[in-house]
Amino acid sequence: MRFPSREIVESLRKKYPVGSRVELLKMDDPQAPPIGTLGTVRGVDDIGSVMVNWDNGSGLSAAFGEDIIRKVCPVCGQPLPEHPALSRRDNKTLICSDCGTREALADFGMDIEDQEGVIAAIHQLSDEKESK
Ligand SMILES: [Zn+2]
Repeated sequence: MRFPSREIVESLRKKYPVGSRVELLKMDDPQAPPIGTLGTVRGVDDIGSVMVNWDNGSGLSAAFGEDIIRKVCPVCGQPLPEHPALSRRDNKTLICSDCGTREALADFGMDIEDQEGVIAAIHQLSDEKESK
């Protein structure tokens, strides 16, 4: 097992602040929660393990350099894109762009059904762009 430098541990703490939502992608442990389990970050310890309260009740940490997790949108659970949106609810929570759009539309007074219609239309547009 390799131990990360203090700088890496600090960068992990910035990347996974307490309360972040994460998804398990790989964990080599017979007790590991199933791949795809979501959880909430409790903190990062001094050897770079990300401590997670998994939604299935497990509390196993994701070990630095061994296990793989990724941040997900705390609202809908989809993987966070490289450039997530900032929630306008608290101006600090990072959410996916769809949820950012939903918040903006809700502030605009649009009801949920219409919001989903707009988001479906946005996806359709970007799918068409990609297939060209
Ligand atoms: Zn989302």
